[in-house]
This record gives sequence, structure tokens and C-alpha cells, in this order.
Amino acid sequence: MVKSVAIVGAGVSGLTCAVLFAERSYRTVIFAEETGERTTSAAAAAIWYPYDAEPADSVIAWALETYKVLVGLSHDSQTGVSMIELRSFSRTGEIPIPEWAIPLGAKRLVRDMLPVFNSGFALGVPLMDTTIYLDYLTNRFLNAVNAGGSINGNVRFEKLEKVDPKFDLVINCAGIGARTLAPDADLEPHRGQVAIVPKLDLGHAVVCDDFPLMYAIPRANDCVFGGTNELSDHHDVDPTTTSRIVAGCSRVLKIDKPKVIAERVGLRPFRKSGVRLEPNRLRDGRTIVHNYGHGGSGFTLSWGCARKVLDLAGLSG
Ligand SMILES: Cc1cc2nc3c(=O)[nH]c(=O)nc-3n(C[C@H](O)[C@H](O)[C@H](O)COP(=O)(O)OP(=O)(O)OC[C@H]3O[C@@H](n4cnc5c(N)ncnc54)[C@H](O)[C@@H]3O)c2cc1C
Repeated sequence: MVKSVAIVGAGVSGLTCAVLFAERSYRTVIFAEETGERTTSAAAAAIWYPYDAEPADSVIAWALETYKVLVGLSHDSQTGVSMIELRSFSRTGEIPIPEWAIPLGAKRLVRDMLPVFNSGFALGVPLMDTTIYLDYLTNRFLNAVNAGGSINGNVRFEKLEKVDPKFDLVINCAGIGARTLAPDADLEPHRGQVAIVPKLDLGHAVVCDDFPLMYAIPRANDCVFGGTNELSDHHDVDPTTTSRIVAGCSRVLKIDKPKVIAERVGLRPFRKSGVRLEPNRLRDGRTIVHNYGHGGSGFTLSWGCARKVLDLAGLSG
């Protein structure tokens, strides 16, 4: 019988799991090297869309489950979740509308709605403003009745067995950190860089996944311009990349180049063999549930995967 749960990681995966455990009254404590702004999660554009994560079938199922939860959260403005029209474009041929997007109301865009692209489709999706949403998750976790939860930052584990034995269940939400912590050589860092610019008069999100990746995501108080996706461990901002991103987005939106308020870099935790969502045993016999490797879809998969973690821990009933 599980009494207390240790969650390793304070990004969107760890926080979402923490909410679910704490709201079921399990004593839940998060341990993480980085919290808040320093996590990969804080660098994300955080729009709902399955991207750069495997395996396709499970990813779509977890994403659709998450979609429903986020639509519910979008009714409360305090959560930082809102619904937005996502316009997805191709520079080359006719962009296919994914089958799963049709029941969600995806519609092909007509010629005069294509700024500089060849084809596109539009779809209503949840957008999580990370400057609000990560705090919302944190507060929802800390305020869960009877759970006595807490977040301990600046804690780096070399091994999962180092988690205090008083926790009888361990959840591994270490993102790219699982490469050394699990350890897992299958994980690779898909580096992303974004530029935050002032709020724009833009009523929808613009995304083009063709190389070079380009997106403009309007949020409540600013706009996220992206992006990059390259195999690299490099954490520092590259100023040339920022200039390229801002120039590319401004050209598509047909605006003067805005000033850059902030630049962010994050390492998408892409796992070649797919998201790792499975239970295992630590060497000391305790149960661990792994929940990492969400690549470019950590927000998109967050609630679906967190519910599966509960299932795998045998606590969903
Ligand atoms: C530029 C960019 C744009 C993105 N846009 C989107 C998007 O639009 N939609 C979407 O769904 N996703 C997007 N993503 C992907 C998304 O950000 C990630 O999938 C998600 O943040 C992964 O979350 P996580 O909680 O698993 O990992 P992280 O946020 O990386 O958190 C990992 C946590 O584990 C801790 N940790 C790691 N190792 C250890 C250790 N040894 N000991 C203790 N603690 C440890 C870390 O300190 C951290 O707290 C984007 C990513 C980037 C970089």
C-alpha cells in the first residue's frame, strides 16, 4: 500500500503527476535540480499539438486525452489555458490534415489565408501560457487538501536509489536529465530556441514545420517566435539564431521586426524508441514509474501520461 510518493522533476510532467497524486491525498513531494523558469518546460511555446514524439499511436491517444482536460481548464482564465486557432502551413506541397484532427474540426485554409505558404489547415487547440500555467499547476499541487505536498529545488540525484527510502513510490519525470539518471542512452536532446517579443495584434497561432521551423504564438502579454529543432546539448542562446527567427516570423506576418524581450533555449527530451511510460523496480525493491521522453509534446501529452502513471502505479481506482 503506497503511503508517500516522490516525484523527480518539476517540469510540466512532474507537476501534472504531482497534482493527480496530491488530489488523491497521497503525500507527494517533488525533488528537482531546476524549478520554474529554469526548466525546459518554461522555454516551451506550449501549444497543444503532437510533434516530435513517438510512438505515433500512443502519442495521439495521450494527446487527445490531454486535449479534453485542457479544454476544461480553458474555461477558467486563472489557469493560463485558452483556446486558439492554430494555422499549420507547408511551404512546399499540399499539407495533409491528420486524421485525428478532423473530428476536432480541422479545416483547409483557402488561398487568400496563406501568407507566404503553399497550403495550410486550421484547428482550434488549447494554448498554455507557461508564465501562468506552470504556476497554476504548482499552486494546485501545493493547495491540494490533506496531501502536505512540497517542492524541493536544487536537488540533483545521481541515481534514482538515492531518493529517500521513506518514499515507497518514485516517479521519474526528469526530462532530458533521465539520460544520466535512468540511465537511458536512447534519449537525445532536440534543442529549441525561441524569442519572446511584445504582444502582437495576431488572433491565431502560425506554425510551419517544414525546415526551417517557424512559429508565432500570441499569448496574453507577449508573443513567442520560433524556432529551431536540432540535435544539440548547447544550452546557451545563439544571437544569430534569434535574428534569423525574428526575421523569418516578421516576413511571414508582414510586420516590422519587433524588439526582443527575452530569448530561451530548451532541450526537448526526444526518445528514439518512444516516450517511456512504464513501471519498474529500483535495486532496493521500491516501485518506480518512468514518465519521460516526450520530445516536442510534453505539454500536449501531460494529462494523458500523468493518468497513465497513476494506472501503472495501481492507484487510479
Ligand atoms: C523551444 C521549445 C518549444 C516547445 N514547444 C512545445 C509546444 O508548443 N507544445 C508542447 O507540448 N511541447 C513543447 N515543447 C516540449 C516541451 O517543452 C517538453 O516536452 C517538456 O517541457 C518536457 O517536460 P518534462 O517535465 O518532462 O521535462 P523538463 O521540463 O525538462 O523537467 C525535467 C525536470 O527534471 C529535473 N531533473 C532532471 N534530472 C534530474 C536529476 N538528476 N536530479 C533531480 N532533478 C532532475 C529538472 O531539473 C526538471 O525539474 C517545446 C520545447 C522547446 C524547447
